[in-house]
Amino acid sequence: MKNLLIRNVTLDGDVCDILINGNRIERIASGIQTPAGYVIDGTGKAAVPPFYNTHTHAAMTLLRGYADDMELFRWLNDYIWPAEGRLTGEDIYAGTRLALLEMIRTGTVFFNDMYWYQPDVIRAVEEMGVRAAIGLLYISGNDGEVLERNSRCNAELIDWNGGDSGRIQLTHAPHAVYSVSEKVLRQVARDAEREGRIIHIHAAETAREVEECIQAHGRSPVAYLDELGILGPRTVLAHAVHLSDEDIAIIRERGAYISHCPCSNFKLASGQFRYRKAVEEGGCRFTLGTDGCASNNNLSMLEEMKFAALSAKNESASPTAGRDGDIFRAATRTGAEAFGIDGGVIAEGRLADLLLVDLNNPLLVPDYNLTANLVYSADSSCIDTVICDGRILMENHHVPGEAEILEEARRVCAKIARFHEGSSV
Ligand SMILES: [Zn+2]
Repeated sequence: MKNLLIRNVTLDGDVCDILINGNRIERIASGIQTPAGYVIDGTGKAAVPPFYNTHTHAAMTLLRGYADDMELFRWLNDYIWPAEGRLTGEDIYAGTRLALLEMIRTGTVFFNDMYWYQPDVIRAVEEMGVRAAIGLLYISGNDGEVLERNSRCNAELIDWNGGDSGRIQLTHAPHAVYSVSEKVLRQVARDAEREGRIIHIHAAETAREVEECIQAHGRSPVAYLDELGILGPRTVLAHAVHLSDEDIAIIRERGAYISHCPCSNFKLASGQFRYRKAVEEGGCRFTLGTDGCASNNNLSMLEEMKFAALSAKNESASPTAGRDGDIFRAATRTGAEAFGIDGGVIAEGRLADLLLVDLNNPLLVPDYNLTANLVYSADSSCIDTVICDGRILMENHHVPGEAEILEEARRVCAKIARFHEGSSV
C-alpha cells in the first residue's frame, strides 16, 4: 500500500496535512514533506470521521419501494418474505453491491449485517473495500432447531477467520426472541463467549414482541435475553424501542450497545425510543443503525442522525435532548468502538477511515458549527471523498464501477417485480 497525503484540509477548524501510511493515519501536521504515492488537494474540504452503521440488512436494497405503507404482518407475509424466499446468492451479491455503493456515497464505511447468503455478502464487501460485521443468522423452525437454510450457510462460515483484509468479522445473529428458540439462544450465548464474538439481535422492537415475551417467558425481551446469558459488552441490541426502567438498568450494567434505528421505528410505527431515559439519564451505550431498505428506505446515516436528534427532542418535549455532538459521536466513534474497530476518530496512529466533505456545498454554509451542519443540514451531496482502511473508495463523488452495479441491481429487481405479478396477493 502506498502513502497517501491529503494537503491543506480543514480538521477541527484548522488547516493541516494528513499523511496516511498503509491503513493507518501516520501524521497530522502542516507542511508535511514526506513524499507520497498519491496526493489529494484538501483545499475547501474538511476531514471528518465516517459513519459506522450498527444495524442493517444490506441486500434489502433490492426491496426499496417494493411494499410500503401497510400493516407489518401483511407487509411481511404477502410481500417481503415471499420475495426473499426466491432470492439467490447472486441476487444477494447484486443487492449488497447496490447497498455498498449507497453507503459509500453517504459516507458509511462499516455496516453490521444480518441476512441470508453471507458468502455472497462477503464477496461484495471484499471487492468494494468497506468494513463489515457479518452475522451467522439463526432462525428456529417449529421444532425449535435452526432452519436448515441457516445452518448450511453458517456451517460454510463458522471456521472462516474473516479473510486477509482485516476488514470483516463474523458475529452471531439470532434474529429475535420470537423467532429463535430458548435452546438456540443459550447455545449462541455459550458459543459467543467461547469465541469472543459479538451477538447481534433485534430486541424490544415492538409492543407486541414485549407482550408476547412476557406471556411466554414471564419477563421482558431484555430480561429474558439477560437470563439466557446473551447480554454483555459484546452485544448489540437493534431497535430497543420498548424498554422498561429495569431493562435500561440491565443494558447499562451489562455494557451492551443499543443500535437505535429511528427511521425504521417511525416508518413501521414501532414506537418511540426512550432517548432521555436510556441515554442521557440511563447512560446506556448508544449507536445508530439504518435497518434495511424495505423499512427506511435508504441507508443514509446522515438522515439517521437527524431523525435520532429530532426523535430525542420530540420524545422528551425538550430541544436540549439529542444534542448534535452526542448524536454525531454515536454514528461515528461509538459505532466503531462497539465492534472493536480502532477508527471513528481522526488521530495519529488510528485506522485511516475518513471523509472529506465539501465546505463549498450550500448545505454546509455558513460554517459556525460543522457538527451541527452534518447532523441537521447535510445530505450526501456534501460528501466528496471516502477513505476506508487507507484506500480511496470515492474521490470527487466518483465510485468506480457505479454504472455496472446499478445495471445489475435493476436486472435483479425486474425479476422480483415479476414474482409479485405472478403471485396471488
Ligand atoms: Zn432489522
